[in-house]
Amino acid sequence: MTKICRFEGNRLGILDGDQVVDVTPALDVLPAVRWPIPAGDLLIQNLGAVIAASLPLMATGARHAVAAVNFLSPVANSSKVIGAPVNYSKHQDEANADGGKNFDLDVKTIDHYGLFLKANSSLVGTGEMIEIAYPSRRTDHEIELVAVIGKGGRNIARDDALDHVAGYCLGLDMTIRGTEDRSLRKSLDTFSVAGPWLVTSDEIADPNALQMTLTVNGGVRQHANTADMIFDVQKLIEYASQFYTLVPGDMIFTGTPEGVGPVDVGDMLNCTIEGVGSAAVIIGAAARQY
Ligand code: MN
Repeated sequence: MTKICRFEGNRLGILDGDQVVDVTPALDVLPAVRWPIPAGDLLIQNLGAVIAASLPLMATGARHAVAAVNFLSPVANSSKVIGAPVNYSKHQDEANADGGKNFDLDVKTIDHYGLFLKANSSLVGTGEMIEIAYPSRRTDHEIELVAVIGKGGRNIARDDALDHVAGYCLGLDMTIRGTEDRSLRKSLDTFSVAGPWLVTSDEIADPNALQMTLTVNGGVRQHANTADMIFDVQKLIEYASQFYTLVPGDMIFTGTPEGVGPVDVGDMLNCTIEGVGSAAVIIGAAARQY
């Protein structure tokens, strides 16, 4: 029953109500590693030990108000950021109604497209700014539930799938429109936002029944429920593991519901997923624009 986070300065935190308690010394339980470093995230791989080491530190650790913390991605070294294209029927409908929003005139669903990968260099936390690198092109928001793999495997059976989940976080699968492959258009630096913390899987009874909302400058754009996913979380894990060996810290962005839309520099996104968390994320300009 834990919400665990990484924040400014690579500090480790545990949520206690509306405060983050600094439990960074708990990281000392992580094993020392040498090259070549095995794929995956050391913290997620050793999550149980880290949480156990954190609990005695809760009484004495420095406390910060959640609102004052700049959250980094709770997964620092994800080996794979997996995306689920068109995993909500109403999102398929809006994409087609929009004349084929990604220059595809007959948008199909995840059954047709399978999965895609986002560069792990695109991963940031909710306390880091999303950067618009191509201001002349349209950049869209996509709120998504993210499942973080805790126990790796191949050919994971549906019935075992949720046992492989360490926890969940809120995600934004940012996208620029265009003709290029998804793996390029969704992999710009800062285009995979995860956070604000990892909620351990024991806190989420059913990941396929969570309400989520995204607003831009206060106006509601996306308001939907993960119950409408075409491939639910179990099926995404089963399916992904038939193609990729999953390792601890792999992240599955489970797809976005209807209501995607453009963002511009200066916009403020407010995102909420029931039982997972809420975050405000700022849209800014990239240092170099094209
Ligand atoms: Mn998406």
